[in-house]
Amino acid sequence: MVTKLSKAHRNTYSDEDANQCEECVAAASLPFHGIYNFSCLCCCARLVVSARPERNQQEAMFASIAKCEIAPKREEIIDYMKNNF
Ligand SMILES: [Zn+2]
Repeated sequence: MVTKLSKAHRNTYSDEDANQCEECVAAASLPFHGIYNFSCLCCCARLVVSARPERNQQEAMFASIAKCEIAPKREEIIDYMKNNF
């Protein structure tokens, strides 16, 4: 999944190091890293955040994530976004 990134990501993943997957680690040093692991909470949050500020786009991301059985719940993702982005 490739998304349009209208502004640079902030690198705010450092306090969640233990939970980071490879893609999150890559994204921390490469802000436009465009690979997302749907089983990873941080990746899902990054994906939705990358769609900001387009509300429809964010909903589309949530919809894609929801189709994946192993993905975190929408509420978890929103929670994570509030705390980390
Ligand atoms: Zn990840």
